[in-house]
Amino acid sequence: MSASLATVSYIGATILFILSLGGLSNPATSLRGNLYGMIGMTIAVLATVFGPRVTMAGIPWIIGAMVVGGSVGLYAARVVKMTQMPELVALMHSLVGLAACLVGFANYIDPAASAQLTGAEKSIHEIEIYIGILIGAVTFSGSIIAFGKLSGKIGGKPLLLPGRHWMNLMGLLVVILFGWQFMHSESVSAGMIALTVMTVIALLFGIHMVMAIGGADMPVVVSMLNSYSGWAAAATGFMLSNDLLIVTGALVGSSGAILSYIMCRAMARNFISVIAGGFGTGGGAPAAAKGSEQPAGEVVAVSAAETAELLREARNVIIEPGYGMAVAQAQHTVYEITQHLREKGVNVRFGIHPVAGRMPGHMNVLLAEARVPYDIVFEMDELNADFPNTDVAMVIGANDIVNPSAQDDPTSPIAGMPVLEVWKAKTSIVMKRSMASGYAGVDNPLFYKENNRMLFGDARKMLEEVFVALKS
Ligand code: NDP
Repeated sequence: MSASLATVSYIGATILFILSLGGLSNPATSLRGNLYGMIGMTIAVLATVFGPRVTMAGIPWIIGAMVVGGSVGLYAARVVKMTQMPELVALMHSLVGLAACLVGFANYIDPAASAQLTGAEKSIHEIEIYIGILIGAVTFSGSIIAFGKLSGKIGGKPLLLPGRHWMNLMGLLVVILFGWQFMHSESVSAGMIALTVMTVIALLFGIHMVMAIGGADMPVVVSMLNSYSGWAAAATGFMLSNDLLIVTGALVGSSGAILSYIMCRAMARNFISVIAGGFGTGGGAPAAAKGSEQPAGEVVAVSAAETAELLREARNVIIEPGYGMAVAQAQHTVYEITQHLREKGVNVRFGIHPVAGRMPGHMNVLLAEARVPYDIVFEMDELNADFPNTDVAMVIGANDIVNPSAQDDPTSPIAGMPVLEVWKAKTSIVMKRSMASGYAGVDNPLFYKENNRMLFGDARKMLEEVFVALKS
């Protein structure tokens, strides 16, 4: 393939990626957005593999690597459960970071990559390598810790080392110092020492940064690591002088940054405070310690038949799905109940909290999979004012996103986070298996409210029972 054809293909792929992002911003056009992305990526890969910069001898290696990588990806995509998606995404981010590090080191020790460079060009090339490896290492180790936290292998409680901000500042100063040394090193082996020290500090910083994040702030970290992985890819593009990788990385980096900002706003968090860590603990007691305080009131349990009765009598119902709906895979039964109620003239709507589940858009994906029409799915802000006119608010496997202590208790780890105000409905019904707390590890006073009912059990099993009772 000639250089000009490769360039044209790259421009075509870039346009498709931009159209893809545009399409993904709306559920109705997301399928088309995905398709654009897939076609764009196919063009990008073909134009790169058969482009002017790959020799014939290199092609079997690339194809071999693609077969191995593609098989692992295909296998993972087939076996991963919907509830494990966030962990998988975190692992994928870590691989982008690792790739940026490896490309950076390979670029530095490859004499062909820098032989002809002198003066300013050489300095720019070295800065690209240094920053590329820095971002890559932070993304790599941070994403591994995020994977551990999301999969429950590492506890959600923030690790608050004494003087942690000073440690981060010291790390930054050492990175700048070694950066200066790296730029002025006489030989590759001297430069490698500076590069290795910086990489170790960046890896430790990534671990420390994510370990210090409180459970409730994890959504911001997930979207932030998504953004970092984009910048790491863009840095790789600079190192390899690949324009398409620079543009694609910048697209992912900037859209991830916008998403992090939206998540922060949705949770009433300050971005810098979240990154600095420990924000999830607020000024009060840590989440675990708070568990010992029992909210006032009595818990009233109901059966599936009683739930069906409440739904049958309702005119307005709002369903609030959460992480437990994903675990139970209850979305299809939820929709069957929705259809049944709508046929009976009940106004059923879904209220989606921006951080429900374990990844941005988690609930929307599940509801779309169950073919719930988009026009009855609303964002939290669109529905919160409607709860006082709602007969039944049905909470399915959600907890933190409907916790009133976010509004009532300034010492709560989730204080200030906007929540779905389900307790303002005539009756709220919470479906979950036990009285256990949610991801943030905070007790939920909603369960003890006078107008709240608890339907204990696996969400799918209970909903199936409710559906049978509704039909009878
Ligand atoms: P929560 O984790 O707060 O609560 C989920 C509830 O589901 C649990 O209390 C659990 O209770 C219940 N549950 C689990 N399995 C089942 C089941 N099979 N059937 C019925 N219930 C079940 O989830 P929310 O969606 O309310 O809130 C999301 C939380 O996750 C927030 O704290 C958010 O910050 C955090 N987070 C969100 C991310 C995102 O991007 N969306 C990323 C990372 C974290 P029980 O065990 O009693 O059944």
